[in-house]
Amino acid sequence: MCVFCKIVAGEIPSYKLYEDDDVLAFLDIAQVTTGHVLVIPKKHYKDIFTLDKDIAQKLFAATVEMAQKLQKNLKINDLNLVNNNGKKAGQEVDHYHLHLLPRYLDDDVEFKFKRQNLSQDEMKKIQEKILDS
Ligand code: AMP
Repeated sequence: MCVFCKIVAGEIPSYKLYEDDDVLAFLDIAQVTTGHVLVIPKKHYKDIFTLDKDIAQKLFAATVEMAQKLQKNLKINDLNLVNNNGKKAGQEVDHYHLHLLPRYLDDDVEFKFKRQNLSQDEMKKIQEKILDS
């Protein structure tokens, strides 16, 4: 059983913040910033590629509710929603989860993206590749 399934089963403790039949939210054990929350489906799905769409709706609704609660009670107005899928993307726990990361002035959190400046032709090729069935 994976670590998040154990949390769902109550086999290991967590700081719960939200719970319904399908979704659980709790504090990340290693707080990147204060109020760093994980939202997970109770049922085990490895990643976004295998996630059930109906569960995804419930998950996102709970995530919005959680974000609004963080905004109100932690008095924050900046937040990153992060979801890592696969090793290359930084996924360490193989049970689908969304990170809610409240952001603060001088919090030292950095996301680095090197953006490409592609031609219209290159963009069109990518579009066609994605749409190809
Ligand atoms: P990721 O790298 O996206 O797979 O993130 C996994 C997250 O799970 C990390 O931020 C961990 O700190 C967190 N984590 C691992 N074990 C626990 C646990 N027992 N309770 C709460 N959070 C956990």
